[in-house]
Amino acid sequence: MPGVPVEERDRKPRVPPLPTVVRARERPDRPPVCTVCRGPAWWNGWRVVFPVVATLLAGVFERWELPLPKAKCSQCRHGFTCYPAGIYPRRQYQLDVVAWATAPVALGGTSAAETARATRAGATSVRRWVSWIAALAEPRDVVALAARIDPDSPAGTGLSSVAAAPGARRAAAAAVIVALEHLGAALVRGGLRLTMRSGLGRVLGWQHQAHGEAVLLTRPPSRLSPAMALWREAALA
Ligand SMILES: [Zn+2]
Repeated sequence: MPGVPVEERDRKPRVPPLPTVVRARERPDRPPVCTVCRGPAWWNGWRVVFPVVATLLAGVFERWELPLPKAKCSQCRHGFTCYPAGIYPRRQYQLDVVAWATAPVALGGTSAAETARATRAGATSVRRWVSWIAALAEPRDVVALAARIDPDSPAGTGLSSVAAAPGARRAAAAAVIVALEHLGAALVRGGLRLTMRSGLGRVLGWQHQAHGEAVLLTRPPSRLSPAMALWREAALA
């Protein structure tokens, strides 16, 4: 490349950055009611975030420039951000991306560096996600919840025979991933409209939709609550 100093050429990353897709500003005419006091709210500007999302093609990811509408309550002055379906709050790497990057590592056969390269996350991030998933839920509880939601579901079958990669942490993560896939599938069969496609994305996305709870990577995970099953039964009754 003539005219470009050698050092600059060498500094070029070997993996090109993800394409950035600029998303349009979209919001309904009126914001939803306040998340704290259920009072009326008004639109209060935008916040731009840059999530990494999974596309419909397996293993293909995009970075979005996504404007999120902000609202403010006219009663209690609480400010809140509205997320479109399928976008999980306060996460750069969206849950389907995390699921895609961690499942092959936890279940064996792929290194963290390999899946990290495809998602442009660091291998350290992928290992941290594996630990996070391992501590996220008790597989037995998740499977029991799936069986309550969908009694015909084959939940639980195969859980004890999950072929995990060597290591206690990976084995624990593998069992959680398989259990979440069961629960995610049961939720969809039960009629919930969930945009995310991984078990992790569906279950946490549902928890957020139903309870407004977001599980943060930077804090110890809040356990999946059995109250969710009660909510589900009440909603279907
Ligand atoms: Zn309010």
